[in-house]
Amino acid sequence: MVDMNKTTVRKRLLEQRAKLPHEQILKGSQGVIELVRTLAEWKNASEVLIYWPIKGEVDVRPLITELWQRNCRVLMPRCRPDAFGEMDIACAICEDELTPGPFTIMEPDAEKCPALETCQPDMALIPGVCFDRRGYRLGFGGGYYDRLLASDIMKNTVTIGLGYDFQLVEKLPVQPWDMAMDIICTEEELWRP
Ligand code: ADP
Ligand code: MG
Repeated sequence: MVDMNKTTVRKRLLEQRAKLPHEQILKGSQGVIELVRTLAEWKNASEVLIYWPIKGEVDVRPLITELWQRNCRVLMPRCRPDAFGEMDIACAICEDELTPGPFTIMEPDAEKCPALETCQPDMALIPGVCFDRRGYRLGFGGGYYDRLLASDIMKNTVTIGLGYDFQLVEKLPVQPWDMAMDIICTEEELWRP
């Protein structure tokens, strides 16, 4: 069964990432960040959907700081308390506006940062458990980004999946709702499917 397969791959890759020593996370993240900075899409972006890393995900916090310094709009997803698997998008102007959400992921504080009805992210940096060379992504299994990327808000957004080299494989099991990325970036390469 396809879904069994996803579960198996997810488990294996999550275990592998959990074993990464801190220095390797740091070094890998620095490599990924350097490559992201070479993208014209990054240089020209004024509104970027980004994430706060958990569980050894590529640490993009230096990029968040850079966006704030560049006066770009930093958009981050926020889990909707009333709807499983759904996320709103909100804009935070500094780290003080972030607060831990349901999965202890830092997200824009609902009291300070309203959910945006409309916004136009030029690019989205997206964490993942695994990516394949067709652009497909495996997440934690909630389908959060699949739903978000299917929304109208994201239709002109360049999507970039971020992971370490071992997280990029030839072919993942996919299901009809899985959304593909435009670019995958690891510390070793920028891959355009
Ligand atoms: P992940 O992408 O996090 O690895 P899956 O692709 O396995 O997880 O999706 C998890 C669940 O999310 C699936 O049961 C699927 O039905 C649901 N899902 C994904 N995208 C959508 C969508 N656009 N609308 C409704 N349900 C969705
Ligand atoms: Mg999916």
